Amino acid sequence: SDSTASFDLVVIGSGPGGYVCAIKAAQLGLKVAVVEKRATYGGTCLNVGCIPSKALLHASEMYAEARHSFATLGIKVSPELDLATMLGHKDRTVKQNVDGIAFLFKKNKIDGIIGAGRIAAPGEVEVTGETGSRSLKTKAICIATGSVVAGIPGVDVVFDGETVVSSDHAIALPKVPETMIVVGGGVIGLELGSVWSRLGAKVTVVEYLDKVLGPMDGEVSTAFQKLMVKEGLDFRLSAKVTAVEKTGARAKVTFEPVAGGAAEVLEADVVLVATGRRPFTDGLGLDEVGVARDKTGRVEIDAHYKTNVDGIYAIGDVVKGPMLAHKAEDEGIALAEILAGQAGHVNYGVIPSVVYTSPEVASVGRTEEELKKEGVAYKVGKFSFTANGRARAMLHTDGFVKVLADAATDRVLGVHILGFGAGDMIAETAVLMEFGGSSEDLGRTCHAHPTLSEAVREAALATFAKPIHS
Ligand code: FAD
Repeated sequence: SDSTASFDLVVIGSGPGGYVCAIKAAQLGLKVAVVEKRATYGGTCLNVGCIPSKALLHASEMYAEARHSFATLGIKVSPELDLATMLGHKDRTVKQNVDGIAFLFKKNKIDGIIGAGRIAAPGEVEVTGETGSRSLKTKAICIATGSVVAGIPGVDVVFDGETVVSSDHAIALPKVPETMIVVGGGVIGLELGSVWSRLGAKVTVVEYLDKVLGPMDGEVSTAFQKLMVKEGLDFRLSAKVTAVEKTGARAKVTFEPVAGGAAEVLEADVVLVATGRRPFTDGLGLDEVGVARDKTGRVEIDAHYKTNVDGIYAIGDVVKGPMLAHKAEDEGIALAEILAGQAGHVNYGVIPSVVYTSPEVASVGRTEEELKKEGVAYKVGKFSFTANGRARAMLHTDGFVKVLADAATDRVLGVHILGFGAGDMIAETAVLMEFGGSSEDLGRTCHAHPTLSEAVREAALATFAKPIHS
């Protein structure tokens, strides 16, 4: 079947980058279509990423609290895990969210088209779906095809989805493994490793770097790792994985010290390989239309998200920058504004990053390591949740807030929070940084009592005066 339609913008990929770009563009009066090859909209984030992982993190955290803290709070229960129902909660959460996107497309008069998109030429997208193919004529094309699971560089990993798994499978294991090895101590590995650890698996994390959570502030990452050890996770750092192999119903991981030395082998019921994601552009026809990519496969763009080919733009995981849903969303909004003749812009200096473990880790701006490297003179203010009344009342006293401010101007350069609710608390400091605020601005802002966010204020106070409660 062959039909043609014309649009101002055709977005390929309906993840947080693509769907947000489409909605914003439609709100600004553009005629928009979104092409998605998955059966449902929402991309990695809604289908197999942010949303299902958070549903499982929440449910498993409640389970752990029921087992370990309820008695102290005077609540007697005998919690019992019903994994099928827990997975059902996750699936319902995903469905509500992906259905929500389909609804928003209708509401904004966006043509949502299920099928694989290929750029036939600038101004033309060919969509191949179950019922044949059709051609869409368009003024602009947005590549928002995101990313997919990457293996381990130099290691042949065969995902069977049962014993050797990626995050795609680790959000749906039908039973709790007794033992699990997580290859990669980054955000995804530690979030999903925590889920299965709380549900009863003995989890060992094997990480190449000498620290977990890669780019996070060193002090935060060390303190966080200690808390994860307390929760029951084992860590093998500075360990280079050289093989992942199935051994009957189990799998083994071979690794050696990065500095050199004898290889070691660990075996487990499930091996989760969480060593990162790669930009996905397969089947898009980029070579044919001449869209340039960098050495790592990311689509190259200028400051306005335009590729080297006129009329073709790219945003989200498929371009440079942190692979985060909110970064993709903000790029989607900026691009829609640019296409509508407005001044779209993303401030890459203020993109928060959150690890949804228990406790959470959240950060925005620069780390101490980065400031040292850049030779910036800075002040540090810290405040521990052990001295926060609300945290004591909630039995969530682990962790601290760290505010980094410029020594000369007092402008806040970075904030790092390890603690319960850190992911929500980081938002006020992102707003502060967007306004170029100082630690004194934060320290003199009245915060409601008793709240966890008082610890943020006290950490700010600690940079230019003294905290009250320590
Ligand atoms: P994607 O979400 O990857 O969407 C791209 C879409 O394009 C896909 O649906 C794909 O099917 C489609 N597509 C690809 N090629 C074609 C084609 N040729 N035709 C049609 N459609 C195509 N980020 C956070 O910020 N917070 C989190 O808590 C978080 N948790 C995560 C947990 C996990 C387990 C994973 C894997 C990721 C997580 N992320 C999180 C990262 C986040 O999911 C990504 O940064 C985000 O989804 C990127 O959005 P995107 O729009 O660029 O691409």
